[in-house]
Amino acid sequence: MVQTEKKRTSKLIPTAEEVQKLADEFEDKTPEELLRWTFDRFGGRAAICTSLQSGGMAILDMAHKVDPSARVFTIDTGRLPQETYEVIDQARDRYGMAIEVYSPDQDDLAAMVAKHGINPFYRSYSLRLLCCEMRKVNPLNRVLKDLDAWVTGLMRTQSSTRKNVRKIEIDETHGGIVKINPLADWDSKQVWEYIREYDVPYNSLYDKGYTSIGCAPCTRAIRPGEDERAGRWWWERGMPKECGIHMGPQSNGNNKKAEVKA
Ligand code: SF4
Repeated sequence: MVQTEKKRTSKLIPTAEEVQKLADEFEDKTPEELLRWTFDRFGGRAAICTSLQSGGMAILDMAHKVDPSARVFTIDTGRLPQETYEVIDQARDRYGMAIEVYSPDQDDLAAMVAKHGINPFYRSYSLRLLCCEMRKVNPLNRVLKDLDAWVTGLMRTQSSTRKNVRKIEIDETHGGIVKINPLADWDSKQVWEYIREYDVPYNSLYDKGYTSIGCAPCTRAIRPGEDERAGRWWWERGMPKECGIHMGPQSNGNNKKAEVKA
């Protein structure tokens, strides 16, 4: 998958040098301070992207306190567990924030299903990436092309592919816009402490042993001692547990290429 998007030229987007300085400065800032900075700088040109997982719910709660008019969006792949749809509605009820829901292009999906079947992801890594591209990456790209900044729930502790995440980055994969990761230096324990302290709604699958929640056919609960993201695409061996939204699925966090088996 090759991104060929044109570099964004918005005056709101800091230069690479400025982002480097900000990244150093932001290392000691709280998530709420980062959200305040983001909304002040970018206004409606920034949005929170969330899959309504635990970190995303904590960010949503913080954003509601910092600026209840903040834009929030999610991608409905069409294969999400019912529990995720339920938490979308719970979040709407709790915060009164309009959560924008974006879907895959129906013609693209129909073509993929006609050619590869409804569950192509179990057959090969490349077909799994194709499905993620159609159902997640392409809809996300359509949203991001009208933004100057997006906020994510990435944490360094989630997996080896995320260990180098900074609190602010230039997102070269999406035309050079700004990516803000307010929870970069948090871990899941801190997230759950926050959720419990502020009684934040969360996906009920967490109560069944799930630690990372994506599409229903591609997510399972983890076993004792497994990595937090081990339940994602659990049948794959040695492949990065990424879909291409946050980093190329061929990245292993060190900019080395992973082998892609067809
Ligand atoms: S997680 Fe699975 S079902 Fe969801 S988009 Fe990726 S391959 Fe398709």
